[in-house]
Amino acid sequence: MLIKIPVIKLFLYMERRQFISLSCFAGFITLYPNFLAIAGESSRAEKGFLMTVNGKIDANAMGFTLTHEHIVTDFKGAEPDTRPEYDNETTASLLLPYLKAAKKSGINTMIECTPAYIGRNVKLLRLLSKASGINIITNTGYYAAVGQKYLPKHAFTETSEELASRWLKEWNDGIDGTDIKPGFIKLGVDNAPLKPIEKKLIKAAAIVHLKSGLKIAIHTGNGAAAREEAEILMAAGVNPEALIWVHAQNDPSGYFHVELARKGCWISLDGINENSDSIVQYRNHIYRLKGEGLLHKLLISHDDGFAVTEVDGKAAFNAFENGNSAPYKTISGMLKPALSELGISSDEFKMITVRNPANAFQMKVCAI
Ligand SMILES: [Zn+2]
Repeated sequence: MLIKIPVIKLFLYMERRQFISLSCFAGFITLYPNFLAIAGESSRAEKGFLMTVNGKIDANAMGFTLTHEHIVTDFKGAEPDTRPEYDNETTASLLLPYLKAAKKSGINTMIECTPAYIGRNVKLLRLLSKASGINIITNTGYYAAVGQKYLPKHAFTETSEELASRWLKEWNDGIDGTDIKPGFIKLGVDNAPLKPIEKKLIKAAAIVHLKSGLKIAIHTGNGAAAREEAEILMAAGVNPEALIWVHAQNDPSGYFHVELARKGCWISLDGINENSDSIVQYRNHIYRLKGEGLLHKLLISHDDGFAVTEVDGKAAFNAFENGNSAPYKTISGMLKPALSELGISSDEFKMITVRNPANAFQMKVCAI
């Protein structure tokens, strides 16, 4: 009851116009989650949404979601002299069968984690989303992992604020001259201790998150680096719930999973593959999180996709083959039964693959 009093006063003292702009300001909501719980008691509706390559969808419409996958990635580096060139329509028909098979297996939404300067191609994603019926979500942000090979030159010279304004422009105006907007921020960092440029990117992500509500997914080298990320974001005023720790399987003991999930961060175990050792490893991580009462902070995915290269002057697309004979299918085909044997119920599996992705990636708006 104590916290209701200042909120009521807040309503009374604000002009209506001020209230509209403040109540739709996602950063405010992230900083003050109680505000929404209280506002929800009034007539103001609060609704979660996702930004897909085809526009907004209700968070409840996501369904079974793979939270870390790729469609096409170009590993040549940030600014090579030449890149493999390919036609979007032809490539979409080549890759469509894999998306259709995923859709048939029950997958309804895919978070596509290929950042700018590693082959992000939002027009191709839109073609494939429309043709397959799978919601696809793309990203803004830069990838500093793998020795900063995928960072454009300006990432080294610009400030956090300048980088944030580039990413916010994509959020406000669209990506690469299209009206396709990012649905989250994607960064990449190596092991701890984080380098100055990695910290700068994380601070830029904090600025973008506070202004847009976009969640922050970070490819992370190890558990200590994930802890540093959470500390930087919290120091910038970001709720730890906004951080998705990508490749949390890089912490083999699971010690940091528990520590960061308890803080509210999302634990993304996203390299699931057919290898029997891998299935056991993931199963054990998931079982530990269940034992700690933290299954509601878990995300799972394959990190599958296709690399584009140039062969005899033509673009060629090869599946990553990181242990999966075909992309996007091991979770529903192999992991689900393995978890069931371990006592993970179908309701718990649904929470991990449907409810958690919606809670992790959704943004909030107020309907006035
Ligand atoms: Zn990935």
